[in-house]
Amino acid sequence: MTVVSGRWSVVSHCPEETRKLGIKIGRLCQPGDVIALDGDLGAGKTCLIQGLAQGLEVSKESYVRSPTFTILNVHEGRIPLYHFDLYRLSDLDELEEIGYREYLYGDGVSALEWASNVEEAIPAECLRITINRIGETEREIEVTANGEKYERFLNLTSCSR
Ligand code: ADP
Ligand code: MG
Repeated sequence: MTVVSGRWSVVSHCPEETRKLGIKIGRLCQPGDVIALDGDLGAGKTCLIQGLAQGLEVSKESYVRSPTFTILNVHEGRIPLYHFDLYRLSDLDELEEIGYREYLYGDGVSALEWASNVEEAIPAECLRITINRIGETEREIEVTANGEKYERFLNLTSCSR
């Protein structure tokens, strides 16, 4: 059962704008937050998470990129960032193997690319971000707060250029 507390969307016109939105979200993050991202390959999920990392004060040396061959990358920041890429996953087994619940229900911020690939692993209460490519460099970014806890992300109504 999912309680939708609110939803908003914004159009990003370039990677930098998407990144800035990620920074704003990262600054508001608290331990235990789960951010579930969806969108096609090249939509900008990793780009947004790079901003998220910056907002979480992850050092620049701890490069955030799509963890192609690993499901999870951990970055130290103000709060740890658990960056999952579930592109190749089609069932829960591999996630179970790495003990994903310890991360998702732990004291870091979990950001999961391709969350809808393993919907059953995503907590009902989370921040959902869907990125749609609407032009060469235009992206529609839809943000849904599922649960009261995520309402603090609802007043981010624009990404400054
Ligand atoms: P994903 O993780 O969703 O597969 P990436 O973040 O790795 O996507 O890549 C997004 C690509 O799209 C990058 O090459 C980036 O430069 C490009 N891009 C162009 N416009 C935007 C935008 N507005 N927001 C994010 N990325 C953009
Ligand atoms: Mg990616």
